[in-house]
Amino acid sequence: MIQHFIFEQAAAAIRAADTLLITAGAGLGVDSGLPDFRGPHGFWKIHPQYAAAGLSFADLANPIWFFNHPEKAWGFYGYRYHLYQRTMPHMGFAILKRWQDNARESGFVVTSNVDGQFQKAGFSEQRMEECHGAIHYLQCTARCTDAIWAAPRLHVDIDLERMLAQGPLPTCPHCGELARPNILMFGDRDWLSSRSDEQRQRFYAWKSAMADKKRVTIELGAGTTIGGIRSRGHSMPGTLIRINPRESNGPPGTISIALGALEALQAIDGILQQQGV
Ligand SMILES: [Zn+2]
Repeated sequence: MIQHFIFEQAAAAIRAADTLLITAGAGLGVDSGLPDFRGPHGFWKIHPQYAAAGLSFADLANPIWFFNHPEKAWGFYGYRYHLYQRTMPHMGFAILKRWQDNARESGFVVTSNVDGQFQKAGFSEQRMEECHGAIHYLQCTARCTDAIWAAPRLHVDIDLERMLAQGPLPTCPHCGELARPNILMFGDRDWLSSRSDEQRQRFYAWKSAMADKKRVTIELGAGTTIGGIRSRGHSMPGTLIRINPRESNGPPGTISIALGALEALQAIDGILQQQGV
């Protein structure tokens, strides 16, 4: 049972903030209908095609498939590309955007999600760090160039029964070799990080520009398995609001809300709206 005063605390912090940092993990997308892969069983329930072969999410999110079995690699990533493309960001994104827009200073987003949902919800890519890359950006598997290019209208035909891509696969416009998403995969030595690095530099610039401002971090759906997103909130001076249905505890002073993102955001927003903010 969540006490109402927790929402009031969160609302008061947001109201008093000069600027908002939003940090997000996979749990944020759940309310849009996106899977939050947890353990092989959850993944295999969504993708029974992989269960027989015993292939887990981590097995598949590996760059080796682009060399050994491109149709399998693009079956997996093409499926996710199209899933993210047709997914509409839930109402919580609009709430977060309104809060950021209403704050005195412009905010920033740091996400480990590669799904492009923040852009779709209207957040500026100039004030966003996608620390694991993004599925709608590609790079060359042959590394003929260090270029990373946007691919907003990719079409990959997939045999869903076998989860294999069929027909032409995305290629590098420079050399014609196979392209891959500019996403950090498991055991990935070839990921080109320059786009994410530039975003990170902009994050640090924003962070130092905000040094004397009242800052609030709103963290959503970021678990302890991949700790990078949580540590961002910890290193940010100011109040941390941690929204997470399973792991909401944090350092002393954390406003912990053990709920899904949308439900928590709506509860806080209800209070702010009542107060005419
Ligand atoms: Zn190339």
